[in-house]
Amino acid sequence: MPHQPKLAAGNWKMNGLSADLAEVSRLIGNHPAPGCEILLCPPATLLSRMSERVAGTPIVTGGQDCHAADSGAHTGDISARMLADAGAGYVILGHSERRTDHGETDDMVRAKARAALEAGLKVIICLGETLAEREAGNTLDVIGGQLAGSVPGDLSGETLVIAYEPVWAIGTGKVPTTAQIGEVHDFIRARLEERFGAEAGRSVRILYGGSVKPDNAAGIFAVANVDGALVGGASLKAADFSPIIAALEASA
Ligand code: PEP
Repeated sequence: MPHQPKLAAGNWKMNGLSADLAEVSRLIGNHPAPGCEILLCPPATLLSRMSERVAGTPIVTGGQDCHAADSGAHTGDISARMLADAGAGYVILGHSERRTDHGETDDMVRAKARAALEAGLKVIICLGETLAEREAGNTLDVIGGQLAGSVPGDLSGETLVIAYEPVWAIGTGKVPTTAQIGEVHDFIRARLEERFGAEAGRSVRILYGGSVKPDNAAGIFAVANVDGALVGGASLKAADFSPIIAALEASA
């Protein structure tokens, strides 16, 4: 199983117009030869143009969701093959905003992951507990259940990335302690090794996501089994994302 580079993934969510592609050019200029993989997941409206802009650079693009079907009567949806056709190499699936706003279940996320895999995309599957679940002491049960239910059995280290994103830390400025992050990442690693075998389970990258900023990135990247970050707000501007990327490179 080849060693996977650390991954700095930016999730632009429903943000970004044509003019914001200038941020991508700044990012390319800041990281001509990065020491980690850099991924940007823009809204679907910008995906083709962003993919054209990063072509020939080390930066790759991804979608933020896909439909489980290949094509058909699904107004407003986008298939995995369409993302790949628009230049994407990755897709984020099961983000808590999709699970909450669109009622996505583990079964739906697993079906989407299968479709993405068939289309040749790498998949970032998001897991995370709510504050109520953490306060009730159920964090590891929730994460274990989402991991078992959302991840298809036929993904390997190369095609699967897990993002641990506590729901209460997303967009709030609240960040778990490094001990809390470490506990969940170690748990996910152990479950992956149980399920896929030691070598394949070790090669799956586990990202932390939730209010990662330039001033807390280095501390988070020092935690064992943190192989990168899924970054929302701080990925929108190269001035914020670049120092996070630099912190990840320094941790490698
Ligand atoms: C996210 O939505 O994946 C995320 C981590 O957002 P933020 O960095 O803004 O908390």
